Parts: sequence; structure tokens; C-alpha cells
Amino acid sequence: MNKNYDIENIFFKILTGKIPCDKVFESDHSLAFRDINPRAKVHVLVIPKKPYLNLEDFTLYADSLEKVDIFDCISKVVKKEKIMNDGYRVLTNIGEDGHQEVQHLHFHILGGQPLGGFIKKLLIN
Ligand code: 5GP
Repeated sequence: MNKNYDIENIFFKILTGKIPCDKVFESDHSLAFRDINPRAKVHVLVIPKKPYLNLEDFTLYADSLEKVDIFDCISKVVKKEKIMNDGYRVLTNIGEDGHQEVQHLHFHILGGQPLGGFIKKLLIN
């Protein structure tokens, strides 16, 4: 486990059953559940079951089964939520500049409505 990983983070508590979640899908290595504060009609989070801090940590240390599994899980959620045809967005925030609030890797799946531009306005200067 990454030395910076904090087992008190909320997603680790969900994984260990300490707090509940609205589960959408579960596979051997990944879990998908609804975001508690949805930013779109469909807002599902997909997380690895093992403790990875962020995408960088996952890329470096997850094995190939876990890597395939998480993308398969995203695909299953998209099908389950029926957002394939109209489109959707997958994103992951990393670190301070990325505004990552929960320090356990998660992919946001957003859809069910038009999502607008990726970033509302230019942030530079
Ligand atoms: P981040 O900003 O780290 O990319 O996103 C963290 C996400 O986790 C936010 O969208 C937030 O609403 C969600 N979240 C925070 N606490 C909980 C919780 O206890 N349960 C669920 N289902 N989602 C949570």
C-alpha cells in the first residue's frame, strides 16, 4: 500500500462495509456506486477494491487483471445506466490541482443529460 494512503478515507470505509453505498455493479476487483452528491442525472463512481491513491499509483502498482477489470466495470455501468447511445463523460481527479477530494482512485461516470463543455471557461491567466 502507498505510504500516503489513508485507510480512514470514505471510499475505504465503503469497501470495508463500514458505511453503506448505493451499489450499481461489483466485479472481482472493482466497485461501482452512485455519487452521494450527483452532478448529473447519472453520476456513478468506479473504484478499485485495493487501496490505490490515484491513477498514477494504480498505473504503477495494479496488476493487469485489475487494470482490465476497472475498464470492464466502467463499460458495464455505461450499459446498465443506458447512456451508451447519447454519450457520457469519464473523468478522474488527481491531487491538489485536480481537486481530488477523496484519496482513493475513482472514475466519475457522468451522463443522462447534455454535460456542456469540459471546463466552463478558460482558467489560464
Ligand atoms: P473527487 O473530487 O475526489 O474527484 O470526488 C469525490 C466524490 O465523492 C464527490 O463527487 C463526492 O460527492 C463523492 N462522495 C464523497 N463522500 C461520499 C460518500 O460518502 N458516498 C458516496 N457515494 N459518494 C461520496
